Amino acid sequence: MPTYSRADVAFERGQGAYLFATDGRRYLDFASGVAVTALGHGHPHLVAALKDQAEKLWHCSNLYRIPGQERLAQRLVDATFADTVFFANSGAEAVECALKMVRKYHDERGQPERYRVIVAGGAFHGRTLATIAAGGQEKHLKGFDPVVDGFDRVAFGNMNELRNAITAETAAILVEPIQGEGGIRPAAIEYLHALRRVADEYGLLLVFDEVQTGMGRTGRLFAHEWADVAPDVMAVAKGLGGGFPIGACLATERAAAGMTAGTHGSTFGGNPLAVAAANAVLDVMLEAPFMARVRETAALLRRRLEELVARHPKVLAELRGAGLMLGLRCHAPNTEVVARLLANGLLTVGAGDNVVRLLPPLIIGTVEVEEALSILDRTCSELSAS
Ligand SMILES: *Cc1c(COP(=O)(O)O)cnc(C)c1O
Repeated sequence: MPTYSRADVAFERGQGAYLFATDGRRYLDFASGVAVTALGHGHPHLVAALKDQAEKLWHCSNLYRIPGQERLAQRLVDATFADTVFFANSGAEAVECALKMVRKYHDERGQPERYRVIVAGGAFHGRTLATIAAGGQEKHLKGFDPVVDGFDRVAFGNMNELRNAITAETAAILVEPIQGEGGIRPAAIEYLHALRRVADEYGLLLVFDEVQTGMGRTGRLFAHEWADVAPDVMAVAKGLGGGFPIGACLATERAAAGMTAGTHGSTFGGNPLAVAAANAVLDVMLEAPFMARVRETAALLRRRLEELVARHPKVLAELRGAGLMLGLRCHAPNTEVVARLLANGLLTVGAGDNVVRLLPPLIIGTVEVEEALSILDRTCSELSAS
């Protein structure tokens, strides 16, 4: 179905931060398949892990124990606030699990009337019926009425609006620590603290959607670690499998208390291939120097991009974001900037608020940063001349 407006380029091979098209052209990949291929393309450890698992067992369903899944869950629990994990296949499904869980939590406590979730303007949580309702974007909802009930929207970052939106029916608060599709809009650290306080005050569950911000994207395994604020529930996907489809919903034991046998499920979720890929991703990311290196590279990229914005005030308005999740707000239409960057050999992703997203693989170094900047600089010069 023609549900995508695709660029007319086809890739047949990838290596590190580079993609090679069928016509032989080489592209520097600062899109990472929308923040997915966190370790770049063809990472030897991931390739070996997936090949090894492919020889043994692809799938057996969740009717049986899956040792690799148990190991992955334990490692995610050890690395986070969480006590327990549900595995899905995508970000939307991870969020869907979170949405079901917050309803079940209050139902179990004898308050089934508490089912509404407070969400933020500019949010994105996926493209299922429930997650488009949570995201609330007109362009995603149009034609798909009736909208799934149970979401109350407040301005992102505004605590007064949020407090006013709490009613006897409120079950949870759902936010992205940095809005990705919405245009790389970071929540203030104080806002995340305030969300935790208000959630505790009213007995709400705090849910972070870290589908895009998670898995090292900001230079910590999860973005909320920068604020030192723990959620009760967290959705993860994108970078988790390094390109293999897998999502996860992490939660505290308390928040997940109602998620007993038979309450939720997935045929494919956390199958042996998917968890082999995700375990291999964690092998790399949990090694001590990895995150420090991401932060170092991110600092260099940020410095260079700030210089770029200063050099091209007619084209670029602002740099925002954290780690290797950066956005250039443009004066020129972002679609045109993304298209020109593609023509010049750099892959980027558009976002809301006329932003161009830079989401390079976390394995890039100085060489890739400088190459990206040279393409960005040339492209901005072309755009200001035209
Ligand atoms: C991409 C994304 C999703 C949806 O993930 P899918 O795998 O496309 O379903 C949900 N939340 C956020 C924050 C995302 O960036």
